[in-house]
Amino acid sequence: MVESITDLESRLWKAWENQEFTMNYQPQVNILTGSIEKFEALIRWNCDGIPISPETFIPIAEETGLIVPLGMWVLQTVCEQLKKWETECPDFCGVSVNFSARQFQEPEIVQTIIRAVEASGVSPRRVEIELTEGTFMLHQGNAVEIFEQLKQTGITVAIDDFGTGFSSLSYLQHIPFDTLKLDRSFIMNLQHDVKSQAIVKAIIALARSLNVRVVAEGVEYEQQLEFLKLECCDAVQGFLFSKPVSAEEAYQLFVHHKLSKEAVKINEIALP
Ligand code: C2E
Ligand code: MG
Ligand code: MG
Ligand code: MG
Repeated sequence: MVESITDLESRLWKAWENQEFTMNYQPQVNILTGSIEKFEALIRWNCDGIPISPETFIPIAEETGLIVPLGMWVLQTVCEQLKKWETECPDFCGVSVNFSARQFQEPEIVQTIIRAVEASGVSPRRVEIELTEGTFMLHQGNAVEIFEQLKQTGITVAIDDFGTGFSSLSYLQHIPFDTLKLDRSFIMNLQHDVKSQAIVKAIIALARSLNVRVVAEGVEYEQQLEFLKLECCDAVQGFLFSKPVSAEEAYQLFVHHKLSKEAVKINEIALP
């Protein structure tokens, strides 16, 4: 058992040396077609058989600096996986990768990201970088430049956990981004809380007028999905569709979705 933060910290470094981390993938489902349009890559760590939440160990990795090599391992692993998927299935979807603010404090982070994507041979347009509002605020000065450079290669940018960062909205005017992810805390009570409904409605309208894709996180209930459909949210991610799964399961989910879509088409053709 892990007893303290220092204990956890030393186990984390050991886990890094022993390569104990793995990646899971959670689908983002197009709200209109029901097909998978992207996967979010999420890191996993089993410490002596006990799964430790990234919400627990990522902050420690950030404090100790381990997040820098760990974050690069995440990107490389995801790109290699994506390359395999792309080879097996040329129209495979993209993957979004979480980045910590700490990683963006590294000099030449953009070049490092671009090099990793290029080395894998995967098309950059299939790679999305997820950042929280805090990261954009941290780099107010040169954020535009940083994200312009990424976008020029075809890599897309998502704002994660939108609405929870206490940040000013003015950065939305300047930062080039492609996707806005509605935080799970707004979705959680959507089916019965009028305040959550008002906020979600407003954020979707904001995304619509900024012409960016909007994804709702943490969708667990049919009623939440119905509300998001009515408000024209683009995509949903949550346990209602799938928990984060292994790379093999993710591939099966993607292919299966496609097959069921094809089955629908065949049925349509058969109709008089
Ligand atoms: P996030 O980026 O906002 O990821 C979404 C989290 O919500 C994931 O938790 C996912 O499993 C969870 N989730 C998705 N749908 C549902 C749902 O319907 N219900 C509930 N209850 N939860 C849902 P996870 O995997 O535990 O990750 C937590 C956080 O850890 C992430 O939040 C992200 O901030 C961080 N994280 C995870 N992987 C990485 C990584 O590779 N790099 C970095 N820097 N951070 C990561
Ligand atoms: Mg995320
Ligand atoms: Mg999130
Ligand atoms: Mg989060």
